[in-house]
Amino acid sequence: MPRIAVIGGGLAGLCCAIELARRCMDVDLFEAAPELGGRTRSMFDPVTGTWFDNGPHLLIGAYRATRNWLDACGLASHIHWQSALRLPLWDARRGHFELAPRPSLPLWISLPAALARLQGHDWRELPALARLLIHRPRPGEAVDSWLKRMRTPDALARDLLTPLCLGAMNEPPATADASSFANVLRLSFASHNHARLGWFRAPLTQALIKPLASLAHNLGVRVHLRTRITHIEGQLGHMTLVDRHGRQWRAELVVRTNPDTSGESRPITSIHLWFEQDIRLPEPVIGGLDTTGHWFFDTSRQTGGREGLVHLAAVISASAPEQKEILVQRICNEIGAMLDIPSPTPAHCRVICERRATQLVRSRHGTTCHSGVIPAGEAPVPGGIPATIELAVQRGIGAARRVRMLLHA
Ligand SMILES: Cc1cc2nc3c(=O)[nH]c(=O)nc-3n(C[C@H](O)[C@H](O)[C@H](O)COP(=O)(O)OP(=O)(O)OC[C@H]3O[C@@H](n4cnc5c(N)ncnc54)[C@H](O)[C@@H]3O)c2cc1C
Repeated sequence: MPRIAVIGGGLAGLCCAIELARRCMDVDLFEAAPELGGRTRSMFDPVTGTWFDNGPHLLIGAYRATRNWLDACGLASHIHWQSALRLPLWDARRGHFELAPRPSLPLWISLPAALARLQGHDWRELPALARLLIHRPRPGEAVDSWLKRMRTPDALARDLLTPLCLGAMNEPPATADASSFANVLRLSFASHNHARLGWFRAPLTQALIKPLASLAHNLGVRVHLRTRITHIEGQLGHMTLVDRHGRQWRAELVVRTNPDTSGESRPITSIHLWFEQDIRLPEPVIGGLDTTGHWFFDTSRQTGGREGLVHLAAVISASAPEQKEILVQRICNEIGAMLDIPSPTPAHCRVICERRATQLVRSRHGTTCHSGVIPAGEAPVPGGIPATIELAVQRGIGAARRVRMLLHA
């Protein structure tokens, strides 16, 4: 049985290890942290006695590889999918409104109609939307410049495209790569099925990582936690991995799924609030416009609304703009304004800033390839899909396929 080493126990590494083990390979999975999961992980909060995610994760129906693969792993029921896209939005001036294309009509008809129904929008946005779906951006162009060149009305850019850009690319339109964003638009607006949102029904550790870890274990994958690989030597067929304590392992091939830390990355800040009062958002997810929080989540509702404290979260696609106390107060003010109540006081709060939340979409030159090492770390490129769960699953599956091709060559 060929022996394969997979470095990195995040989603991409787990996916690769499981795919290899399913094809009867002998797999070692190395993870530097004490737990599997990487950036899709949950933490235990001792004050509330609950598990919560480093950051709420949203999926879209266009994540085909993720949907198919989680289905094949028996985890389809762990995700809640909207039956069709409903994008609730809020701003201080207009209050609550939502983009909800009618599922009875094809999306290319119902989406512009739904947009035209929003306050401040009209049918003149239809040609602008069509231009964005038809015309490709120039190489290296930023989203902002592409939207201007396509004569995109301000309302369309502000209410739909900017929240989507922040959510999908984790970067504002001024710097985000337009060709990747165009790809996101084409994929997500291909049909009602592609456009709908999904979220996990439980914290990521329970809904995703533990079931995958147990599947990997049952398939015979050997998981080495607290094992940071520092050197890889040898060549295809005769590789040696060394960890920081000098321990060594042999493998025929190595797959690296850990991200290249020298790449340009961007933070995500998640503000977790627990309330004793029964404070509920009107929707499980709400996009905030001109708000400090870019997205607001009713986490208790997403995960089944158990008894006890109510858990809400807000996400900022950037580092925390101010001190924790001020940030929490601003988010509570925004929740209060959203619910038309005085600013609520949380019983407990946590602010988690993941400094390297996502690798940004950038051209990448001169990556050196080592014989016997398959690079599968997060490195999104212009025109491709941005750093997401979908990219992690695609990288994991793709690396497993390359292992099989190399071994059979
Ligand atoms: C706060 C937050 C919110 C997000 N929201 C979304 C979202 O809503 N939708 C979405 O699709 N995506 C979202 N993402 C992105 C998504 O989580 C990541 O793209 C995905 O988890 C990347 O998985 P990975 O396996 O490639 O990398 P990682 O999860 O980073 O896994 C790499 C692993 O390698 C380990 N490692 C590193 N170096 C070594 C070494 N030398 N030896 C051994 N192990 C090593 C690390 O400890 C880590 O566990 C979000 C990310 C964050 C942080």
